[in-house]
Amino acid sequence: MQRLYSSCLAGIIFLLLCAPTLALAETIVIRDARVFDGVSDQLSEPSDVLVVDGVIDSIGQSLSVPDNTAEIDAAGRTLMPGLINAHAHVMLQLPVWQAMTSDDYSFAYTATVAARSLLDNGFTTIRDMSGNSFSLKKAIDGGLLSGPRIYPSGAMISQTAGHSDHRTAEAPSRLLNPNSRSVFEQRGMVVVADGEAQVLQAARENLRRGATQLKIAAGGGISSYGDPLDVSQFTDSEIRAAVEAASHWGTYVAAHVYNSNGVRRAVDLGVRSIEHANLIDMATLKYMNKRDVWLSPQVMVFQMELVGMNADQKAKQRQARNGLNSLMTNAKKIGYENIVFGADIVTSLETLGNINQELVLRTQWFEPAEVLRQATSKAGKLIALSGPRNPYGKLGVIEPGAVADILILDGNPLEDMSVLERPQETLRVIMKGGQLHKNDL
Ligand SMILES: [Zn+2]
Repeated sequence: MQRLYSSCLAGIIFLLLCAPTLALAETIVIRDARVFDGVSDQLSEPSDVLVVDGVIDSIGQSLSVPDNTAEIDAAGRTLMPGLINAHAHVMLQLPVWQAMTSDDYSFAYTATVAARSLLDNGFTTIRDMSGNSFSLKKAIDGGLLSGPRIYPSGAMISQTAGHSDHRTAEAPSRLLNPNSRSVFEQRGMVVVADGEAQVLQAARENLRRGATQLKIAAGGGISSYGDPLDVSQFTDSEIRAAVEAASHWGTYVAAHVYNSNGVRRAVDLGVRSIEHANLIDMATLKYMNKRDVWLSPQVMVFQMELVGMNADQKAKQRQARNGLNSLMTNAKKIGYENIVFGADIVTSLETLGNINQELVLRTQWFEPAEVLRQATSKAGKLIALSGPRNPYGKLGVIEPGAVADILILDGNPLEDMSVLERPQETLRVIMKGGQLHKNDL
């Protein structure tokens, strides 16, 4: 008995000592891949990529690798960084009519399917731009669920009658009933705050939960009921309060806004990323570009028929759609530097499943290489603005030291973006942080 006990103990000690070494020894080499590194206009010559412990270790021809290295033969296929969706709403995929009568569980279960769907489409990272995604992020990081890395903003902050205020005109004033809140506010997907003190509190609550950046609304929105797209939201001191709270945490503020005046105010007050911007003029776009502000536009969401939209909302959507061509044409014309990919899909798992159409739609204005940069290296740079709040390493590029978020696919998206529209068929390998989510090779 004594002997058995001591040999068991020795076994356990052996395992404890060896387990970390075994984990460290997890290496995979991908042979014979033509690499889009997230930056270049062209694919590389056939190359090998060595992944050690979830990080890209080296790239080269006929790499010599340690013993026991697992091998994937890409057989001349394209290898590229995992995609980044810089404007996601992983928690908001319930149809609106269903969201109105659902409990927290329905939101959560639907979000787990949304997360999985994003990863299946090749998105290894998302910047979540409003939604209570903190626990989902934890579950994914902990290996409990499949999904992309999440950079959560927490609840988007807006003023009363702003874009976070999803109450209809019939809802009572909060001055009469302090509990007058939309279902989205009750579930922590958005938050309404008025005055510097409330904005600071809302910002700090998001930071407390682990927001990597903050999102505010500085102008009207489509899905909210009471705010036309041309209006300005928040006073200067309210926007400044959010920017200050973020900067004290070493991070930044992104602002939802469509109109020129709102964009200028946000930029002047320290906002670093502008979401949408469909209605801005050329002078404002140049103003942003000169100040290295990030532009995060969307295409597909303005073509979506959102179930349950009223006439006002439909008119606003039309207005935004009509502005889009001039925004994108102008951005292309001036070679807008800091522009990213983001889809902003809400209320439909089905549409989210087709998110890669957004990549193709952008080729109306941009070369495929430009679109791919928006969804890889550029988006990677944007999310890195979260500085010390960035919980992961370098993303969006294939280079030594970057996190091993890697796709291997049939076809060359630099020549034909539509190969990414059929990810079930064409995406042969989806690797996130060195872990294989899919391997069809
Ligand atoms: Zn959005």
